[in-house]
Amino acid sequence: MPGVTIDKNHCKGCELCVKVCPQQILAMSKQISIRGYFYAEMIDSSRCIGCRICAIVCPDVAIEVHVNGTVFSLFEY
Ligand code: SF4
Ligand code: SF4
Repeated sequence: MPGVTIDKNHCKGCELCVKVCPQQILAMSKQISIRGYFYAEMIDSSRCIGCRICAIVCPDVAIEVHVNGTVFSLFEY
């Protein structure tokens, strides 16, 4: 099953991933990260289709997508 991992401490809370997810399964947290931002989080991983759009738009490369055992990470810090 596809899924994503969001590194909340790299997220700057821009909400781009929340807006573009075709499944509308990402949302902003009600808590802040150590950087002082509200961060994106998964709210219903069972509906993720592994499209990777969230990872592609993230300007902070905070999202990894897992599809069929493969991890798609666009950039390593
Ligand atoms: S991989 Fe696609 S469906 Fe899954 S959270 Fe990202 S944008 Fe949404
Ligand atoms: S696109 Fe990246 S930086 Fe922006 S809210 Fe989503 S995870 Fe955070």
